[in-house]
Parts: sequence; structure tokens; C-alpha cells
Amino acid sequence: MTKWVYLFSKNKTEGDRSMKNLLGGKGANLAEMSSLGLNVPPGFTVTTEACINYQNNNSTISEDIKKEVLQALKEVEAATGKKFGDASNPLLFSVRSGARVSMPGMMDTVLNLGMNDSTVEGMAKLTGDARFSWDSYRRFIQMYANVVMGFNHSLLEATLEDLKDARGVHEDTHLTAEDWKELVSVYKRIILEESGKSFPTDPMEQLWQAVAAVFRSWSNPRAFKYRDINGIDHNWGTAVNVQAMVFGNMGDDCATGVCFTRDPSTGDKRFFGEYLINAQGEDVVAGIRTPQPINNDSKNDANQSLRTLEEVMPETFAELTRVYKILESHYKDMQDIEFTIEKNVLYILQTRNGKRTAKAAIKIASDLVSEGLLSKEEAILRIDPEMLNQLLHPGLDPKAKKNVLTKGLPASPGAGAGMIAFTADQAVTWAESGKKVLLVRQETSPEDIGGMHMSKGILTARGGMTSHAAVVARGMGKPCVAGCNDLVIDYKTKTMKVKGMTFNEGDYLTIDGATGEVIEGLVPTIDAEITAEFSNFMKWADEFRKLGVRTNADNPEDSAVANKFGAEGIGLCRTEHMFFEAERVLAVREMIFAENKANREKALAKLLPFQKKDFLGIFKEMKGKPVNIRLLDPPLHEFLPHSQDEKAELAEYLGIDIREVEDRGEKLHEFNPMLGHRGCRLGVTFPEIYNMQVRAIMEAAVECSEAGVEVYPEIMIPLVAVDKELSTLRGEAENVIKAVFAEKKKIIKYKIGTMIELPRAAITAGEIAPHAEFFSFGTNDLTQTTFGLSRDDAGKFLPEYVGRGILGVDPFVSLDQNGVGFLVKHAVTEGKKVNPNMHMGICGEHGGEPKSVEFCHHAGLDYVSCSPYRVPIARLAAAQAALRK
Ligand code: ADP
Ligand code: MG
Ligand code: MG
Repeated sequence: MTKWVYLFSKNKTEGDRSMKNLLGGKGANLAEMSSLGLNVPPGFTVTTEACINYQNNNSTISEDIKKEVLQALKEVEAATGKKFGDASNPLLFSVRSGARVSMPGMMDTVLNLGMNDSTVEGMAKLTGDARFSWDSYRRFIQMYANVVMGFNHSLLEATLEDLKDARGVHEDTHLTAEDWKELVSVYKRIILEESGKSFPTDPMEQLWQAVAAVFRSWSNPRAFKYRDINGIDHNWGTAVNVQAMVFGNMGDDCATGVCFTRDPSTGDKRFFGEYLINAQGEDVVAGIRTPQPINNDSKNDANQSLRTLEEVMPETFAELTRVYKILESHYKDMQDIEFTIEKNVLYILQTRNGKRTAKAAIKIASDLVSEGLLSKEEAILRIDPEMLNQLLHPGLDPKAKKNVLTKGLPASPGAGAGMIAFTADQAVTWAESGKKVLLVRQETSPEDIGGMHMSKGILTARGGMTSHAAVVARGMGKPCVAGCNDLVIDYKTKTMKVKGMTFNEGDYLTIDGATGEVIEGLVPTIDAEITAEFSNFMKWADEFRKLGVRTNADNPEDSAVANKFGAEGIGLCRTEHMFFEAERVLAVREMIFAENKANREKALAKLLPFQKKDFLGIFKEMKGKPVNIRLLDPPLHEFLPHSQDEKAELAEYLGIDIREVEDRGEKLHEFNPMLGHRGCRLGVTFPEIYNMQVRAIMEAAVECSEAGVEVYPEIMIPLVAVDKELSTLRGEAENVIKAVFAEKKKIIKYKIGTMIELPRAAITAGEIAPHAEFFSFGTNDLTQTTFGLSRDDAGKFLPEYVGRGILGVDPFVSLDQNGVGFLVKHAVTEGKKVNPNMHMGICGEHGGEPKSVEFCHHAGLDYVSCSPYRVPIARLAAAQAALRK
């Protein structure tokens, strides 16, 4: 029989932290904390399986589930000594969602469930505090109306704002019991008018409806969107936690707050958090009042004048300190903890591994190793390789002139610049049309997730370091400046005033999420600097990985960036990029237009010094690390002149008529250039092109070597389908090399090999192998040709394929392991049969994508090669692949 409900209480706890899939992250950790003896209000978790059952059962809660809920409810009544629905001593519940992985703000929580016209009076009498009791009731109605009955937030909130205006007060705390009572009756009237249904008074009905609403909220559009963005399975379902309420809004000896055991922005070992006195639930996160710092370490520009929890409630703060230490060493990771203080007693409501920036993640993992809490291996497996992206990306150029308008809180580091968009929808629209957007909001809410995702950065006028904007931005790795009080945003006129200046939607603005600065216009950015901590962490990764990591680079500058990031060589140097530069392209065109070999050679002779210079620069930068150079690959017509001016210029240069230029251009036209006269087919038909390139490579290598710089060139012949192509071209290349060595009286070590990027090459790899010293899998073309789809045209249908699940992922992003991967593995096996020492690598875009890197590790490749900025990502992914085995 399936068990649907799991208790957590001092006396009896049925779950633990290993049960995240069944109990959700929140439920599993509530159970774990109960078992640790921490002061957690008792309750029970209805499982994720029950959520799936509900969905498959016509959106009804089955009788079995109901029976277990009623049983658990009795146990919680016994544990608290209160009774659910009892007017004289009422038990109230929070109903909280909790999926396997934390989805901040996605699913909705209802607090104070069980309140009605009689329990409110009972609570008032019991606590001697009518104001508190009615405040709790009106909060309950607001949340229930929104989450369960589907009312828009703003409907009831507007009524509250009106009431505050009428009373002439700014803060909720200044309203009286009578005010709240009045508000409750207005709320009930509005609900009746708008929905035709009266607000439910039966606590049991409230409970069933709330549980069902949490189950349903798994399928709301916001949750869907979040899961899509984060690649979370839509079939997991959410658990529901039903937990006895504790009250942070019972007076000035009560509070509610959020804290992090270490700094989530920098990773520094300092306890850090925010709280509000006399407040409930999400008041802190929602940015309703400016939250107070829990200690001096948590002070910032916005809250420095406010009193800390340490000052206000020293004993409770000491207890919180004791608890956070227990939790951090138990979970061996930085914790994000939610707590409530009721009448000076501390209750822990949630703990989870805190979201953090990449910089913090590295710092924390490294520190935990030094503190002896983690092994190096565990630390390496902790970091999501994609996260490193954040670290490797640019910040503001410190030398750039900047007009700092104001400062907010440095909520998530990195520089972000773009056009101001005041709504998430506007941000999405502009971003989709290729514009850089900065999302500027009063505060963000879960509805804004899509717009936040598409923006270069997020700026909010309200909210603290734990506000929705701050937490979500850190998770996304987006720059964020929060709580920038100087901003006066007017959504109606779509303007923003700051320090006497007015900005319209569409104006440019820059933020620095590391300092909190808000800057006028677009400010130039500079590359990330590599910290000692980061380098050290990457060294650990290098100790474990088996795969080599090279880079794809075509010039000395990119090679230098890659070297800085730890590249062990160049896996792909594309020579055609060198042909496009202004002074060279005429010679290239002359070569293409040559009608006989002699003229072609004349043009190629002009190109030779250019190519040689390029290779010299790269060899010098790489200092003896292998440099794999691919001979000319693209169809020649890519180099043709397009504009009338270019055609005229070429006609004059060649001394022919412009019409002749056009005629010859037309002859070069191809119906399907991707599958046309390109790659080694050019080498076969115009051998002098490759001969020139090989000569340039070898002359450069000899020159370097003579200058005392070590070199190791690898010559790669592209788009081979048939072994004879390779054997022919290899023979030609070797003749040139021999000639160069003889002329220069010097011998250099080199390799000649091929790309495997056509299915036929992969299938007949055993025939090709005798002629190759290495294989490099060109998985971009291999994906195109295996699927028979052109990457340049796939945009019209591939997103829909992925959206509808026909393809799990875009095969140009993550290697298609069953299809393309099958060919790769086959070619590796066949190649190694011929030559067990044959060197194998991958040079497609996949070389920097963690899942594909893991595949390469298992396929037995020697190295991956990726763009310079992804080199650290590949190094870490390779280490993880080796450790996960
Ligand atoms: P989220 O997943 O959005 O963090 P939670 O379920 O943690 O949602 O609930 C939001 C807030 O509601 C919590 O931070 C906490 O302050 C408050 N809350 C939840 N359960 C209780 C409870 N039993 N007693 C008092 N407050 C609670
Ligand atoms: Mg929530
Ligand atoms: Mg929470």
C-alpha cells in the first residue's frame, strides 16, 4: 500500500533528507530538522506521488489520501495541544508547497489556515490581542483568495492601500484591530460579489481546497516557465507541507526573517540575514518594509541605521547562531534558513542549500575543504560547470567614464547594460528582437521570471538582499541592483526619475551588481580577472580529469585568453577567417577568379606571407603546445564580392570588366553549398591552395623553432568522406613539408590527420585510419549530416521540436548521444583497431558543453576543444565525468 502522508514532530518523524523526491526539498528538510531536535513547528507532508495521483484522478483528492491526512492531523493536534477548527483553542496551519528542487516563489503558500469568524475571536481571547488575531485573519483571506480562489493579488491589496490612505498611515503596523476587522468584512463582500461564492468558513473545507490548490499550482504557467528555463521535469509534482503556525506578528517580541550561513554574493564566511519585527511570512521577501539587518555583518547602505536582531533580541540571536552552525555542519554546505520568532522563542521553518553566485560557490566549496567538511572530490562535484560562465564574463571597465546616478544594494555581481524596460513583457519583446534590455521594476515577482531571464540585468527600487529580485538574479547569474530607493518609477507614464533626471522606457542604463551602482548610458566592460581561489579550485579539477582541454582559436588574441583559462593547445584553428581581412580578400578573390593554375599560384603567393604571419603569432602564443590547423574548408563563393562597389574594385584590380566579375561569380554558385565544393574537395581539385597553406604553416614553424620557440603543428584535412581523399592530400602535404625542411635544413615534429564530420567517414573510420595520425570529430557538421538538417535553417523548426519534446535537447547544443554519439564511438573503436595510439578529439561546439564532455570522457577521446571562455567549464566538466564513474 502506498503511504501518502509523512509526519514530522518532536515525538515522531517519518521522513528524512534523503527523501526529496517523495517529500520535496522543503518537506524532507523539515523532517531532517525535526529529527535533529531543532525547534520546528510540527506538521506533515503530503507526498509528490499524491500530487500525481490527484492529477490523474480528475483533480480530486482520493479517499485514501484524505484518511491519512486526517490521521496525521490528529497527531499534530496531540503534539500542539490545540484543535483544528476549535473556537476556544484553535490550531492554525500553513499550507506550503515544496518540489524536489527549490523553485523560489513559484508555488504559493497559505498561512493562518483555519481562521473564520469564530476562531478569530477565540484567538483574540486566547492571546489577549485582537489586533493580531484580525491581522492574521485578513492575511489568511488575502492569501487564500489569491492562491486557492484565483483572485488577482491587487484586488484586495488595493482595498488595504485605500484603507491606509483613509487612516493617513504608511505602514500596516499602524492599523488597529478595528481597521483589520473592517477590512475583513470588505474582503468578504468583494469576494462574494466577484465570485458569487462566500468565503469558506469550514476549516476542513479550507484545508482540502488549499491542498488541492498547491497540487494545481504545479501546473500554473509561472511554474511551467520556471521549469522550462531550468530544465526541470514537468512530471515530478510537488509535495504539500501542512504545518502548525507560529506567529511573528504577535507583537514586538516577535519577528520573522531569512538568513544565510555565509555571504551568498562573495562566499565570505560571515553570517548574514534580514528580519522584520512584528511581521509574518513573506513580508521580508516581498519588500513591504525595509528589512533590518540581523547583525552588523548584514548592514548595508539601506539598513545601516536600523537595529540588528543581535541588539534587539540577544538571546534569540544566540540561539539562531547555535542553530545555523548545527545546520551548516550537518548539511556540509551554506544554508538559506527561514525562521520566525514568537514571543522570544525561535522556530526554524525552512533550510536549504542556499543559492549563490559562482564566485561564492567556489569560495565556499574551497573553504569547506580547508575546514575539513568536504573532500576535494566532493567540492568539485558541487559546482555546476555552467555556473563558471558568470565568473568568466566581463565587468565594468574601471577606466571608463561613468556618471553614477545613484547606488542600490549590490544584489548579484556582474555588469549589465541595456535599454530600460519597465515590464517583463516589454523586456521579452525587445530582447527577442535582439536588443539589450535592462529590466527596471519597483520590485519583481514570480510573474517577471521570463523578462528577468531575457534581460542583461535587473534593477529594483524596493526590496532587500533577500528579495525576490536578488535571490532569482543570483540563481540566474544575472547582474542585479536591488532596493535602490532613489528611483521614482512611474509605470503609467513609463518614466523613471532619479536625482532630478528623467529616463524614459528605451533609454540606456548600466548597473554594476558588484557595487550597486546605477549609471547613465552604456558603459564599456572589461574581462573578468581570475582569482587565486578560482585558479586553485581549477587545479584540483585538473588533478582528476582524464580528458585534455584545448581551445578553438584563430588568432593570437583568442589563444592568449584561452591560455589564461588553462587551454592545453588549439584543437581547431580555422584558416578561412584569416582570409577575410580587408587587404587579403582581394588576393583571395584573385585566386578564386584565376582561370588557370599559374594565375592561381600567383595569387596564392601573395597570400602566403599573410598566412605565415598568422601562424607565427599563434605558435608564439602557444609556446610548444599542439596547434591543430584546419586547411581551407568553406565553399569558395563565400569570399565573392557582393556589393556593386566591391565588384567594381575587384574588376579594376584584375583589369577585367565588371560583367566578367559577375559572370564568373555566377559560375561559382552552388545549390547546396553546405554539401558542395568545399573542404578537402577544394584540396583535391585545386591542390595549390592546400600546398600554399601547408607551406605557410611549416615555414612559420621552422622560423619559430629557429627563434627558440617550441612548436607542434598538426595539419587537419576537413570533410573527408573517402580514404583516398585523405591519402592523396596527405601525400601532397608531405611533399611540400619535405621541400620546406630541405630548403631550411631543419626538421620539425608534426602530425597530419583528419576531421571526422561526415557519416561515411565515421562508418569507414577503419579504412581512413591508416592515413591519419589523429581524428578530430567535427560534431557541428557531423550533426548536420547525420540528421540531414542544416544548422542555418533549423531555426524554423528545431525550437518547436524541442518545445514539444520530439527532441529532448537541441542537438547542436548538447551532443545527440544515440545518433551522432553512436558514430563517434564506432569511429573511435575502428580507428583504435588500426592504431591504438591514434589521438582523438572533438572540436565542435559540443566540446564546451558539460553533458557532451561527459560523453567524450566515456567514448575514450583524448581531448575536447571549445571556445576560449568555455575552457574552464570543460575542465571542470571533465573532472566531474572522471569522478562520477
Ligand atoms: P517559499 O517556498 O516561497 O519560501 P514557504 O512555504 O517557505 O514558501 O512559506 C513562505 C513563508 O511563510 C516562510 O518564509 C515563512 O516565513 C512563512 N511560514 C511558512 N510556514 C509557516 C509556519 N508554520 N508558521 C509561520 N510562518 C510560516
Ligand atoms: Mg512562496
Ligand atoms: Mg520558504
